[in-house]
Parts: sequence; structure tokens; C-alpha cells
Amino acid sequence: MILVVAEHRDGKLNRATLETIAAAQHAGGPVKIAVLGAGVDAVAAEVARADAAEVITVDDAALKDYTADGFVMALEQLIAAEKPERVFLPHTYQARDFAPALAARINRPLVTDCVAVKDGAVKDGGYVRPMFQGKLQADIAIDGPHMATFQIGAYRADAMKAGTAPIRKAAIAIDASKIRQKPEAPFKEAKQAVDLSQAERIVSVGRGIKAQEHLQLAQQLAQAMGAEIAASRPICDAGWLPMDRQIGSSGQTVAPKLYVALGISGAIQHLVGMKGARTIVAINKDPEAPIFEIADYGIAGDLFEVVPAMIAELNK
Ligand SMILES: Cc1cc2nc3c(=O)[nH]c(=O)nc-3n(C[C@H](O)[C@H](O)[C@H](O)COP(=O)(O)OP(=O)(O)OC[C@H]3O[C@@H](n4cnc5c(N)ncnc54)[C@H](O)[C@@H]3O)c2cc1C
Repeated sequence: MILVVAEHRDGKLNRATLETIAAAQHAGGPVKIAVLGAGVDAVAAEVARADAAEVITVDDAALKDYTADGFVMALEQLIAAEKPERVFLPHTYQARDFAPALAARINRPLVTDCVAVKDGAVKDGGYVRPMFQGKLQADIAIDGPHMATFQIGAYRADAMKAGTAPIRKAAIAIDASKIRQKPEAPFKEAKQAVDLSQAERIVSVGRGIKAQEHLQLAQQLAQAMGAEIAASRPICDAGWLPMDRQIGSSGQTVAPKLYVALGISGAIQHLVGMKGARTIVAINKDPEAPIFEIADYGIAGDLFEVVPAMIAELNK
């Protein structure tokens, strides 16, 4: 049996949960879904629309605000009672906070950041996860009970098989005095001023652009193409473009007709935000860059030579 741990905030289900349920269904065997918190009926009802054996809630005032200690305490007991062979979680900030502590507490291996799970029994199956900034896709074979987290976008939420799962409340007691953390205001994603998900064409800039003053080259290309400008995370982290222009797992997910990647290596966290583009054009001076694996058209070359030539052609 696979136990999927749902994630929600203020009664709103994180869609990554549905993706993780899809991963569990793909892996095969019975799937149960755990919903932790205080007053979780609505979230439980929402995930109960999945094809699953059961939704189990742990409803306790001590779990109202997320804390690593509270979640570890609750899941340790739930896992001891339900004995799932595997525990699946979405690879979110929250899961990354408590999953390693939970794995250590219950003495189980934890495979993080998976992009695929092979179907079949645990001993025949396994996981795929990127390593070395996506330069390598590693096959992880694992035997015995374990836990795994799934990268956002690895499975599609709409691929989740629907059904009607019964909901049961677990009899689990949380000792609030053992929770050491004091919850603060939760991490908030940046407010999105531009909605790149509606853009038909996007020119996206990566670290290959080298300096902020070179951004105007990408902007000229975007203008010539009638495209929106976007970027990989390091560009937004450096403040060269606003955060709402970032594409990827911690930025926007886009599906334009045309996505032009300039000097972007193709890390998994970037790819999950743009792999739905209909046509991907990559310009990168490293012919081995992972971006070329998903590009429809690739130019292995220096963007400072290629882009001016493209702008000149487009302006003709
Ligand atoms: C939790 C987490 C969340 C993340 N979320 C995101 C996210 O949402 N979005 C995101 O993008 N990243 C995200 N990242 C970061 C991600 O892992 C990569 O570090 C990042 O995408 C790399 O950006 P890049 O491709 O621009 O830079 P690099 O990996 O440094 O690649 C630069 C590329 O430019 C090429 N290049 C250099 N000079 C030239 C030239 N003159 N002409 C042509 N090509 C050239 C190089 O060959 C190289 O391939 C996240 C990471 C973590 C851990």
C-alpha cells in the first residue's frame, strides 16, 4: 500500500498533492491518502474524489498550523498503524522541511525529488531522479519500506484517476507540549503581476546572458518576435528581472506556442515550468546542455552571435 500525504494551506489543497496521487496510482497497488491539520473535512472531501482505497484524516488542534514536530509525530503514529510499504509526498517546501526528520524517526530511506516512479512491485520498481543539476537521470532501485518525494510537474494532476474514496478519522493523539517550533507566517510565493501562462511566445533568459546590461539583447529579440520576456531563477534571484518573470517549479508554469531559451542549462526545476510549450528553441554554447534533450530546435552556439543574427532576420 502507498500512503500519500496531502498538503494544504488554509483549507486550500496544494495541487501537487493530486500529482503525487497520480504518481502513486501509476506505481500500482492500493493507495491511501493522509490529510493532517485542524478542520480538514473540506480538503479530505476534495482528495476523496480520487481513485483511492481510503482517505485518513488526522484532525487535531495541535496541527492547525504546520510544524515539523507536529507532522512527524502524527505521521509516525499513522505509519505505525497503517504500515504502508511506501509513503509518497509532493516535493514542496513543507515536505522538504519535515520528510527527512520523519524518515530518520521511522528509520526508512527517503528518495527525494523523483521525476518518475516505475510501476510494479517495490523490489522490481524504482525511481528516476535528476542528479548533478540535471546532467544525469539516476535510476534508484530500492527494496523494503521507504518514502519518496515527487518533483512538481513530474505527474499531471489531470492524469489522476477519479473515484470515490471513503473518509476515516484516525485515532491519533498529538502531545502539543512536545512541539518545539513556533509557527510563523507561512512562506508566500511572490504575487504575480504578469500572467505568463497566457503568453503565446516567450523569450527566456538564463545565466548565459552573463550581465544585466545584456538583457536588452533578449528584450530586442522578444520585441521582434512579439514575445514576453521571462527568465530562469538565477536571473530573478539577482534582481535583473522581477520575480514574476521566473519560469519553473518556484516560478510560473507556462505553455506558449513558442519558447526560446537563451543560455539556460535546462535544470529540472526550470524544465517543469516550460516543458508544456508546443515548440522549444534552445540556444546554448554547450552542446551537452540538458535543455537540448527537450528542445525541438537547438542551436549550439554563442547567444551573443546567434541572437543579433535572429533579430536582424526578424526585422527584415
Ligand atoms: C528548490 C529549488 C527551486 C528552484 N526553482 C527554480 C525555478 O523555478 N526556475 C529555475 O529556472 N530554476 C530553479 N531552480 C534552480 C535550478 O536548479 C538551476 O540552478 C537554474 O535553473 C539554472 O539556471 P540557468 O540555466 O540560467 O543557469 P546555469 O545552469 O548556470 O546555465 C547557464 C547556461 O548558459 C550557457 N551559456 C553560457 N554562456 C553562453 C553563451 N555565451 N551563449 C549561449 N549559452 C551560454 C551555459 O552553457 C549553461 O548551460 C531551483 C532550484 C531549487 C533547488
